[in-house]
Amino acid sequence: AKKNSGDHFMMYQPNMDKEAYSNLQLENDLRYAVERKEFSMVYQPLIDISDGKMVGVEALIRWNHPIRGPVSPQEFIQLSEENGLIIPLGQWILETACLQWKQWVENGYSPFTLAINISIIQFTHPNFLRDLKEIIRKTGMEPRYLELEITENIPFANNFASIILNDLKHLGVKISLDDFGTGYSSLQYLNTLSIDTLKIDRSFIKDLPFNRNNIAIVQTIMSMAQFLDLKVVAEGVETKEQLLFLEKNGCQIAQGYYFSRPLPKEEFERTFLMDSKW
Ligand code: C2E
Ligand code: CA
Ligand code: CA
Ligand code: CA
Repeated sequence: AKKNSGDHFMMYQPNMDKEAYSNLQLENDLRYAVERKEFSMVYQPLIDISDGKMVGVEALIRWNHPIRGPVSPQEFIQLSEENGLIIPLGQWILETACLQWKQWVENGYSPFTLAINISIIQFTHPNFLRDLKEIIRKTGMEPRYLELEITENIPFANNFASIILNDLKHLGVKISLDDFGTGYSSLQYLNTLSIDTLKIDRSFIKDLPFNRNNIAIVQTIMSMAQFLDLKVVAEGVETKEQLLFLEKNGCQIAQGYYFSRPLPKEEFERTFLMDSKW
């Protein structure tokens, strides 16, 4: 990107770089993407390492842009956090995934945990709880099967966030700390918060069992989780070797390309739900 023009605040300068232009365009397109039905959810299984059975799914959003094609969620989630669109978008995500879960259960599949990513902006929005309760009521989602994934850097010290956590616990909704290990948390704070699950960040799993630092980090997280009675999910598991290491070190649940990429609903059903009907 060119940084030397000094006129980067002017919107349609002819020498403006393509990237900046398309970001602007993208932000605008984001506003209409829900009603234009350009978003969809994909589902990635969480696997119990001891028996290979699916115990849950993580719902992840996809945006198929009519001109740009697939846009990375990293990119447009951040954009929507900056412009506030994450609030309606986050509601759409919750509603779509919960409705899907309800349909699976109504179709006779035995219920499993549904994990949904929640942006910090969404989580700390004053109406979050009210809206969540409404979505739960509307969709028929069972709260005890719902797990909200929030990143570790959420301002928990902030009283408001801990009140929400408490209320969620009352509702029966589970909380998972995503990307665990990349932010700051102390034992103390994990102990007092109503956290159910730690999701070890992919960066620590990546070069297991060869990287001594990551071996130590994962083992430390495992013993900490055991001490605090927290569930642990390893994310980004891609190889048999990683899986064996995790199993040996007491990790119960894994997620990653080794088992499956996130799949569109139909493909997920064909691959993981076919034989779980009673
Ligand atoms: P995340 O929550 O940490 O999600 C895990 C990411 O790792 C997903 O990328 C998933 O496709 C990818 N992944 C899963 N297994 C593997 C693996 O074995 N190897 C590798 N290399 N990657 C793997 P994705 O879908 O592109 O999402 C990226 C991030 O965007 C997510 O990170 C999350 O922070 C955000 N995001 C995605 N969907 C949503 C959503 O519905 N709501 C919110 N608020 N954020 C979302
Ligand atoms: Ca996640
Ligand atoms: Ca993660
Ligand atoms: Ca992440």
